[in-house]
Amino acid sequence: MNNDSPSSRGPEMCSEHLCGTLDRLGVPRESKWRGLILYMRSIKDYDFLDAHQKELIQRLVVSVLREKDFSEDKFKAVVRQNEHILHDPWRRKVSASLKETARLVVEMYQILGRRRGDVEDLEAATVQAVESGKELDEVLADIRKGFTEMVTVMERDVDVLQELSLTDPLTGIGNRRAFDQAATEAMTMAGRLREPLSLLMIDIDHFKLFNDEHGHRIGDQALASVGSLLKGFAEDSDKEKGVAITPTRYGGEEFAVILSGVTKEHAGDMAEIIREKVGRYNFVIRDLSGQVITAGIKIKVSIGVAELLQDCGMAAELAHLVEAADRALYQAKNQGRNRVCLYDPAWVMDGGGRKAGQ
Ligand code: GH3
Ligand code: MG
Ligand code: MG
Repeated sequence: MNNDSPSSRGPEMCSEHLCGTLDRLGVPRESKWRGLILYMRSIKDYDFLDAHQKELIQRLVVSVLREKDFSEDKFKAVVRQNEHILHDPWRRKVSASLKETARLVVEMYQILGRRRGDVEDLEAATVQAVESGKELDEVLADIRKGFTEMVTVMERDVDVLQELSLTDPLTGIGNRRAFDQAATEAMTMAGRLREPLSLLMIDIDHFKLFNDEHGHRIGDQALASVGSLLKGFAEDSDKEKGVAITPTRYGGEEFAVILSGVTKEHAGDMAEIIREKVGRYNFVIRDLSGQVITAGIKIKVSIGVAELLQDCGMAAELAHLVEAADRALYQAKNQGRNRVCLYDPAWVMDGGGRKAGQ
């Protein structure tokens, strides 16, 4: 792993070569720009920034170096104008989370509305039973029946809400919460049965460009199609080979697939099949009325593969497995995308791959 953390970098760590280059470019020694540029040397290791943010920040630094205005005023203006680079991903996450919460609240509100009517009916039936003049045993049996039916309906409501809270509305597969739940259960089971457990982290290649080219609505359609392909793959594997596969949308354009009882090598073969399947698929673009406007659009994915025991050891937590698969994914991206990469435990020693969440 790279120990060159942001905090350990600074103007005082300026190497002779870099300092000379910055001097030649005219970046004043004591300016904020010099500190920032030196700090940016380790940008690839900053796991709080995603790839797109890193690219935008690097472009920004290059444009400042070209303009050659290294004043404090320019620094403040550039920071003010580009704050959105840091905020946008968080805003997107908060907005997705609020949308999901709003969907659940609406559903709960509707359920409660329906149940309010049911409770009023139950109250009326109870009063009617008491006033019916029947034997006490019969009255109690009637009342108990009404309450039992009510409990059954409410238990079904809980199941519906539970299901909704674990489903990604866009793709119809499990969401991040479902992933955390299913992966934790699968890990416990793998430990108990002493069986292998693998994880695939799948990320759509250049999806930002896809959105820029076709628009967000079409991007959403593509995400939904990838979700269905993964769901179909999981169903086929279960039916044909008895392999338990759980596909989930991990977030944004990333999917996580849990493979129970599957070694890393076997998981790598399955990842290859998924990569080819997605790559072969002809995505179509439909207008708002559902008519196909364009067909034959291709999407490629990069996939990182890791195995619990082989890569993370006995005492591993879910975060370790995700980090290992994520680092393998990063390697796949680095090696040119549209490929599958298996995590190599030796990376821990030599600093390969990346940290989770990058
Ligand atoms: P890379 O090959 O390195 O993964 O490049 P990329 O462009 O796919 O990655 P980047 O992280 O730069 O951009 C991810 C994009 O995914 C940006 C964001 O707008 C898009 N995205 C995330 N969630 C959604 C979504 O729900 N719908 C749509 N349409 N786009 C989304
Ligand atoms: Mg991504
Ligand atoms: Mg991507």
